[in-house]
Amino acid sequence: MTRREQHRSTRTGWLRAAVLGANDGIVSTASLIIGVAAANVARGDIVIAAVAGLVAGAMSMAAGEYVSVSSQADAERADLELERREHSEDFEFERRELAAIYVGRGLDPALAYQVASQLMAHDPLGAHARDELGLSAARRARPLQAAATSAVAFSLGGSLPVLALLLAPPRGIVPVVGTASLVVLGLLGATAAWVGGARVLLGGVRVMVCSALAMALAAAVGVAFDIA
Ligand SMILES: [Zn+2]
Repeated sequence: MTRREQHRSTRTGWLRAAVLGANDGIVSTASLIIGVAAANVARGDIVIAAVAGLVAGAMSMAAGEYVSVSSQADAERADLELERREHSEDFEFERRELAAIYVGRGLDPALAYQVASQLMAHDPLGAHARDELGLSAARRARPLQAAATSAVAFSLGGSLPVLALLLAPPRGIVPVVGTASLVVLGLLGATAAWVGGARVLLGGVRVMVCSALAMALAAAVGVAFDIA
């Protein structure tokens, strides 16, 4: 009988970023629409506010993600550069350093030294990047990719409440946008939990409750402006 293991943590990285971006897009755009609609504003004006908010949100997500992933990439590059210098200065010291890491993970010293020697004969810098610095090519920080992923995910998410806004009857903007957004948010939350191997119902309900609070707060602000 063959055993097939599904390791989930390896594929959750970009998917998690995409789900989070879509989530943000739905919650912030829906809250914006509900807040403005609760102030009894004409639909045309609500659409302008919603689209402006969607574009602003997508750009701010992209910029934030670009800056944060860039600084992570800079740190990784600096680490590798330092490592490269250390290798050219004292290769034997680096070999003992790597061997010590393997001893720490349970190999006996002679075997650890042998493993370190063979790995460093093959790819010295790669061996240290993985086992000393914890870097791997597959998880290398990619700022532009991260920025594009969040901007696209945010826009896709945000276009859902805008679509609900366009289709809703004149008196039903708040309930239609709110309900449609919460249903999709719940499904997204449940999907994210399922992909991550966590509890599906809890994942869905948690996202729906938090998002409903955000929308209720926005509605309260809109109502306050309507009364004023
Ligand atoms: Zn090293």
